[in-house]
Amino acid sequence: MRAMPEPSLTYIDPFSLANNESTVEREVSLGSMQRLAELVIKSTGDAAVSLHFGSDPLGFRVMQGEIVAPVTMKCERCLKPMPVEVVATVNVGLVKNSKQAKNLPGQYEPLLLESDEPVSLTELVEDELILSLPIAPRHELKERCIDLDEYTAEEGSQEEKKNPFAALAALKEKH
Ligand SMILES: [Zn+2]
Repeated sequence: MRAMPEPSLTYIDPFSLANNESTVEREVSLGSMQRLAELVIKSTGDAAVSLHFGSDPLGFRVMQGEIVAPVTMKCERCLKPMPVEVVATVNVGLVKNSKQAKNLPGQYEPLLLESDEPVSLTELVEDELILSLPIAPRHELKERCIDLDEYTAEEGSQEEKKNPFAALAALKEKH
């Protein structure tokens, strides 16, 4: 196994962290998350990551916590850009194969880690954020969204992108 880079913690070994009952609390830049960028108008800030790795009472290795990230999405009420705070509630069971995934208690979302290679914390955070994006963000009736004039033509053009994860996100029944 590769040595984990320190102290940047760019790559993590979730099983090792779980064995040590470790907590990861840090800011992760959204800037390099290309898949997330394609689903929103703007994602240039940092995600606040707070994840605990450990074992549940039945011995299942778990990753639990919360990831909060500021992004800009298209308001479905007025079609203008609006700030959205994405909150991903993480309740993941760590598994090494599909058999372990099948045995995982239903409350856990399985995270399949077939090799012992460290995984990218950024990609892991990106996956959780994508699953937690609101399907149809809209402003409150008494509020208004950002004027399009405040955006450059380049940024504005990204509004037209469709959200291919909408159906998946709907299945997750998160908002
Ligand atoms: Zn709006």
